Amino acid sequence: MTRKLLTITVPVFNETEVIQAFYDRVKKVVGSLEFMNHEIIFIDDGSTDDSYEKLRDISSKDSNIRLLRFSRNFGHQIAITAGIDAAKGDAVVIIDADLQDPPEVIHKFLEKWDQGFDVVYGIREKREGENKVKLLTASLFYRLLKTLVQIDIPVDTGDFRLMSRRVVDYLKIVRERDRFVRGLVSWVGFNQTGVYYARDKRYAGETKYPFRKMIRFA
Ligand code: UDP
Ligand code: MG
Repeated sequence: MTRKLLTITVPVFNETEVIQAFYDRVKKVVGSLEFMNHEIIFIDDGSTDDSYEKLRDISSKDSNIRLLRFSRNFGHQIAITAGIDAAKGDAVVIIDADLQDPPEVIHKFLEKWDQGFDVVYGIREKREGENKVKLLTASLFYRLLKTLVQIDIPVDTGDFRLMSRRVVDYLKIVRERDRFVRGLVSWVGFNQTGVYYARDKRYAGETKYPFRKMIRFA
């Protein structure tokens, strides 16, 4: 039986303090997969710290890593889009670099994928270490969105998810420039489901989504 390939896609913007810890933790998870190979795609979204140099060091010692580098900061949604476009996997996971999305949840994603689901998204049942303004605006955003659009976009769900190859292939056809990736994934359809997880606080550093960027995103 040929082994399937899992792609892990990671957008990185000025994350020098978290890169090593993220890599170690994610490697434990993918290294324990018996029946799957993996590739990890890091997208450096125009970092101005030494994130790219760190990523280059790590990737020089690990042939499962692929490294993309943007010419400037294009934003999180474009970064994950580049990762999805480059992914070769039978299943593709999007995960943040700051360890707010616990890599161990990928095991749960894979279980559902094995059962035949095309999209498995993480639903945040708890959010640690976020301020009240972020929690309130995020909650309002998801609920307002739900009343405005006809597609069923799950609430309290970010981009942390697994997608099957066929979902990725359809997603690649959609070339919107102002992208809301999780909405586009809902739009593609097929069998989608969620798993609950507790969202941790950032491992180190500050959010790269200041209020200004959140408003633009919304
Ligand atoms: N990120 C990115 N480009 C940006 C902003 C963020 O690639 O312009 C990355 C960031 O490095 C992280 C993920 O997107 O891996 C989510 O960002 P962040 O954790 O700052 O957002 P928050 O969790 O605070 O909403
Ligand atoms: Mg974060």
